[in-house]
Amino acid sequence: MADAVAGAGRFAPSPTGPLHIGSLYTALASFLDARAQGLAWRLRFDDLDQPRNDPAAPERILRTLDAHGLHWDGAVQRQSDHLELYEAALTELQQMGMVFFCTCSRQQLQGHSTYPGTCRSRRSPRSDAAVRVRVDAAVCEFADSVQGRQQTRLTDSAGDFVIKRRDGPFAYQLATAVDDGDPGIVRVLRGRDLLDNTPRQLYLMALLNLEAPAYAHIPVLLSPVLEKWSKQTLAPSVDDRKPDANLRTCLALLGLKPPELELQALLEWAVAHWDLRRLGPKDRVFSGF
Ligand SMILES: [Zn+2]
Repeated sequence: MADAVAGAGRFAPSPTGPLHIGSLYTALASFLDARAQGLAWRLRFDDLDQPRNDPAAPERILRTLDAHGLHWDGAVQRQSDHLELYEAALTELQQMGMVFFCTCSRQQLQGHSTYPGTCRSRRSPRSDAAVRVRVDAAVCEFADSVQGRQQTRLTDSAGDFVIKRRDGPFAYQLATAVDDGDPGIVRVLRGRDLLDNTPRQLYLMALLNLEAPAYAHIPVLLSPVLEKWSKQTLAPSVDDRKPDANLRTCLALLGLKPPELELQALLEWAVAHWDLRRLGPKDRVFSGF
């Protein structure tokens, strides 16, 4: 699909394991949301946290998406292929005088809800330090398509935050701001559990003069004990041999009640009936297949 004009939405899983019910639900929502707006749908692996990566996961995730008719546009991207972009962004922030080098230990930061500013005057690079960006007291405001109007003051919610970790990797906030700030990405739909990251990413996008996408943070799937279904909470894995049933389960959780249709027609029906307003902001409980 040509996406040069309309732009794209994206799905950006971490390749830490196969897709589980919670990640399939988010993938499907992101796919339907993009297609319903006539957007392309891109796939990106957020793979910067190397020790957590499972080498077999990317292939399995691609297979699962494919089996469920969730076909992405263009080449699959990997954040580990974008290191030069992140380095350039970091240099730019450094030239603006917005970063400093923090050697605080975990222990020193204990008891502080936001960064206390200890290392703010350390402007010279050093290898034993994390890189933090300075924040200001301005109110960060944005409209979320599901959660409504959001207002945050970064000095209260996060403080000067880490954009490159002391042990080397670029932090999620910087990498995601650079990638989602790509002019081709116009829509980011993801789980509500990521909502409190968005002001930090918007702040970086504004500093780097990147265009922010529109955001939709959807309800997350909770287990019967009201924990988010994730790899850590042993979310039920997705059986690629039952794509129709899996899609129906996810569609029901997304508030859609499709008629009996085959997979491709089912997805087309869902695109035509996609309506974020139907979703509401409340999390869902999913007890199992
Ligand atoms: Zn520090």
